[in-house]
Amino acid sequence: MNALRSTVKELLGSGAIDVFVGYEKGTRLPRPLLAASADEADKLIFDETCTGNLAVYLTRKDLVGGKKAGVAASWYAMRSICRLLDENQLQEGAVKVFGLTPEGDLKPFDTLADLKQHVQETPPPPKPVEDEWVREIDAMPAAERWKFWTGELSKCFKCYACRAACPMCYCTKCIVEVNRPQWLQPWAATMSNVEWQLNRVMHMAGRCADCGACGAACPLGLPVHIIAHKMAKLVAQSFGEPTDKGSVLSTFNPNDEENFIL
Ligand code: SF4
Ligand code: SF4
Repeated sequence: MNALRSTVKELLGSGAIDVFVGYEKGTRLPRPLLAASADEADKLIFDETCTGNLAVYLTRKDLVGGKKAGVAASWYAMRSICRLLDENQLQEGAVKVFGLTPEGDLKPFDTLADLKQHVQETPPPPKPVEDEWVREIDAMPAAERWKFWTGELSKCFKCYACRAACPMCYCTKCIVEVNRPQWLQPWAATMSNVEWQLNRVMHMAGRCADCGACGAACPLGLPVHIIAHKMAKLVAQSFGEPTDKGSVLSTFNPNDEENFIL
């Protein structure tokens, strides 16, 4: 903890960064802190309870735009940052990433190549709860699965917190707000809620870090991160782990299986 605080103070003092996106103590869980002074840096914490995906703040122009930022990154945030750099949403050199090793040590990354190597060589934290959800839902007959998801999504009131929490949802104008043409019905209703989640997760195919932030942000506790988790598994099975060669929706390989076409 002290190592992080003194490193951040040094970086801020030397002008190497203008702001550090990290965690401070929250009421229940650690919460985000954008530290821009030594006093604020003194509130920083970083341990295994800091699992939120802070990469979402790095594309916020109102908070970080035009600034050199440091970030305390969980494994999932590191994966998101790799993707954001590949998608030219972040500039290499403008972001200084600090990760936490499985042993609890602070690890700075100087280049995107180092960050990618670490993400590839470090197994993702296990997701036993999410894996069990997927097993149970996959085991349902199709009609029961449909009933389950329409039942859950019927409660969605379209607050878009799931979108706001996702580092990969960085468009300034989302498809749900476009009305010429209107792709999705803007009001909350079961079928339009289903459409919204399917669209959201389809846009994440091959880009999603599987961080679970979308589900954690939902004020109703709807398990929308399980749809993302299932999608991430399907993409990995069908196309391998995401690479820097583009997302599965923006690339085509003649050898791709077309087993989704019935
Ligand atoms: S879709 Fe959900 S799980 Fe995937 S990156 Fe976005 S917030 Fe994380
Ligand atoms: S956070 Fe929950 S309630 Fe809000 S739009 Fe997403 S699924 Fe619906």
